[in-house]
Amino acid sequence: MHRTGTGGSTPFHTLIIGSGFAGIGMAIALKKAGLGEFLILEKQNDVGGVWRDNTYPGAACDVPSHVY
Ligand SMILES: Cc1cc2nc3c(=O)[nH]c(=O)nc-3n(C[C@H](O)[C@H](O)[C@H](O)COP(=O)(O)OP(=O)(O)OC[C@H]3O[C@@H](n4cnc5c(N)ncnc54)[C@H](O)[C@@H]3O)c2cc1C
Repeated sequence: MHRTGTGGSTPFHTLIIGSGFAGIGMAIALKKAGLGEFLILEKQNDVGGVWRDNTYPGAACDVPSHVY
């Protein structure tokens, strides 16, 4: 289990399960909104969700995209 967040050893206000796009996006939104400390629990050893688990050799994005 991988733990990431702003809380450190202090109490947290929000628990996010999973660190795919959705979890990372939620963490960014919470930080921007100033909504306190949060903790992300990720069952794998790194962030990234489906993009962590899959590689697509030779695949490319044919439009400008900050996300990809
Ligand atoms: C090649 C490719 C192209 C794509 N193109 C598009 C596109 O053009 N437009 C679009 O909208 N979408 C696209 N997608 C889909 C999009 O990338 C995914 O839908 C999105 O990344 C899903 O994010 P998610 O955070 O919901 O889920 P996931 O990425 O699946 O992340 C979930 C995370 O939660 C963790 N987790 C699960 N269960 C637990 C648990 N019990 N405890 C702790 N952690 C847990 C998992 O390990 C994982 O890290 C594409 C996907 C791929 C692979």
